[in-house]
Amino acid sequence: MKTIGEVCWSLLLATAAALPSYAQSVQKQPADSAWSVQLDQIRQVAAMIPGRRALRVNVLKFAESRRSKKFSVQGAPDEPSVQARTVFQVAYADGTVMIDSGMDEQVHRFFGRGVIEPYYPDAAKQVERALRSSRAIIITHEHGDHVAGVIRPPFAAELAPKTLLTRAQVEALQTNPQMPEIKITPDMASRYNVVDYEKYLSFGPGIALIKAPGHTPGSQMVYVALESGREYLFIADTAWHMDSVRLIKGKAAPWIQEEEVLLLAQLKWLNELYRKEKNLFIIASHDDEEHKELIAKGVLGNGLE
Ligand SMILES: [Zn+2]
Repeated sequence: MKTIGEVCWSLLLATAAALPSYAQSVQKQPADSAWSVQLDQIRQVAAMIPGRRALRVNVLKFAESRRSKKFSVQGAPDEPSVQARTVFQVAYADGTVMIDSGMDEQVHRFFGRGVIEPYYPDAAKQVERALRSSRAIIITHEHGDHVAGVIRPPFAAELAPKTLLTRAQVEALQTNPQMPEIKITPDMASRYNVVDYEKYLSFGPGIALIKAPGHTPGSQMVYVALESGREYLFIADTAWHMDSVRLIKGKAAPWIQEEEVLLLAQLKWLNELYRKEKNLFIIASHDDEEHKELIAKGVLGNGLE
């Protein structure tokens, strides 16, 4: 005689066999579940470490790439567009945290692909000073315009112990760097603060890191909640221009390779936040128009402390 469990199990198997769509639906997950996060969970993770939250956020543009907008957003017109090369600074009452580290002029030239594009040496000096005086440096992803500033300067050894790199970022920098100039050796890699996490990582009062592979394997977003309650989400290169978020349209740049299913899931989530969360500012690293608008509104400070 069969036990109830055995009867149930054989019934289930019979049902699954009779309904192939059931078996398929178990194996095949919809595209949206490829990447999913929740804002309430992110807020909770950002609140895990007690302490006074940051007071303000600053941006600095140190270089520009001039590219047609048609590369940044699928379906956008072929019109001139500025890709701002930027770093961000989160200012606490007693110290600063940098988001990304900029790059030197040689790495900048790589992105011009033969065309000389604006590089602002005074701003680059400001970035250097801010990196050296910061308490910590978070890197959004392993591309040269974001990470070269903690790899190539003569004082890189001074920055390394306070630079947080993820395991995926370090692996890419060691084995598959975007350009030879930012390749790191295992010995160099051992000097950084390397972390790995599944989905979210609490970084400090009001700050949570969100794993977001797609643009690159090591991409992450940075959520920051200020003491005032205002919230920021630094999405780095998930979108080059905020129109990608507004229209849920990815890039159309033939020279980059992205995980499109993951990116689309990210753009959908960001679009929802953009429409619903009026106190949360989604910041795209390279959207010059957005930065100007938020500087004018006082949401971003212009220049580093
Ligand atoms: Zn970038």
